[in-house]
Amino acid sequence: MGISHQDLAGAFHARGHQLWLVGGALRDRLLGIDSHDQDYATDADPDAVEALVRGLGATVTTVGKRFGTIGVRVQGFWSEITTFRGDSYSGGTRWPDVTFGASIEEDLARRDFTINAFAEDAFSHRFLDLYHGRQDLAARVIRAVGDPATRFREDPLRILRGIRFASQLDFEVEPGTLAGMAQTADLIPTLSQERVTAELDKLLQGANPARGLEALRETGALPFGLPELAPMVGCEQNRFHQFDVWGHSVATVQAVAVTPETVRLRRWAALMHDLGKPAIRHVKANGEWGFYRHETIGAELATSLLDRLKLGRAESHAIVLLVRRHMDRPEPGDRRSVRRFMARVPEHWRDLLALKRADNASHTYDDREYHDRLEAACLRAEEEEREALRAESPLTGDDLVRIFDREPGPWIRVIKERLSTLVLDGDLAPGDREGAERIARRMLNRGRA
Ligand code: ATP
Ligand code: MG
Repeated sequence: MGISHQDLAGAFHARGHQLWLVGGALRDRLLGIDSHDQDYATDADPDAVEALVRGLGATVTTVGKRFGTIGVRVQGFWSEITTFRGDSYSGGTRWPDVTFGASIEEDLARRDFTINAFAEDAFSHRFLDLYHGRQDLAARVIRAVGDPATRFREDPLRILRGIRFASQLDFEVEPGTLAGMAQTADLIPTLSQERVTAELDKLLQGANPARGLEALRETGALPFGLPELAPMVGCEQNRFHQFDVWGHSVATVQAVAVTPETVRLRRWAALMHDLGKPAIRHVKANGEWGFYRHETIGAELATSLLDRLKLGRAESHAIVLLVRRHMDRPEPGDRRSVRRFMARVPEHWRDLLALKRADNASHTYDDREYHDRLEAACLRAEEEEREALRAESPLTGDDLVRIFDREPGPWIRVIKERLSTLVLDGDLAPGDREGAERIARRMLNRGRA
């Protein structure tokens, strides 16, 4: 468990130092949200902080020390203790990457939004709300501390943080802050891709992603943060659609059913599913807009966009697959067609179905009944497959792992499928374990599994 918040507060106080709880943890507490990372601000310099917490026997990390931060385990969680920030530099020349401030007031003035600029004295519990952040929390507003454009110019990441908070908390960006974002959005490309991607990722997983995405568009940040998506804005569609491609994509992100495990994949896929449309749009014989095979070019465009974003390989692969397959429309009554649909998105048919439902939800026609039938057919196919594997193969997966002394993996499925087919076809007797073992060995030797 390590040291407690009270241990820290007492130790700083005893040495005549200030220690303030600051930032997101106070915001989250006021919102009634659990937050594990505690940030502290202090007048003590990083050497003094390190000596103090080591004196308490705490678990300490100094990786952030040259930025003024000492990491400490407090009540089981990593916390950061950072020397006051400011414009003025007080001290020697040992901390080249930061400027230290003289007071908590100066430190709070450097923070990005009013709802992130609270401080609470760890010892006396005195609460500072110099920028009326509590009012903004109650009114559900994101408001910059100080002059918005100046603050965004200092650090353009704040633009994306503000928009991300709007999505995460379902807050409105205050008009002056929104205008400041619009004035400075062209500075976004000066940020590292990792930081931009991290914010976009949080935005998409927020409570109201449509709010964040619309703020990206409204502020003009979209062409700088996600230029590949910008052509969707104003790309008009046919009479089945109420929105342009952008509006439809945002509506799809908002509509797609998610769980904490699927939110990341499904929302990114929903955002990109029609990425190919602006590039492929053409006039059809009947005079309407056509988007023939937009899913193919969309999958290609998504591949390069995801490469640039560095979202992670497994996730990117799955997103591209969902983009590529979102127009698939198997006949629910046809087993082969349903199985092919599922086999094209291994492990992801539920995600694909969720995407298709959401895609449809913002069309002018209602296809719910079709998707219900398709879902029922997929569940049936899955159950049949499970039964076939369970009942028919004379050897179980565990048997195979034991007999061949190999790590479990896709090879088991390949062998079991072959064995069950042989049983179903009458070429292997049910329960013929020796025969089954011979066949499995032959398959492995030939590298067929
Ligand atoms: P979360 O941790 O939920 O993403 P947070 O607000 O706690 O949100 P952190 O990155 O942990 O974000 O930062 C902690 C605090 O540091 C913020 O609440 C804010 O006061 C300040 N802060 C962080 N980044 C910036 C920035 N770019 N400009 C100004 N202040 C910032
Ligand atoms: Mg935080």
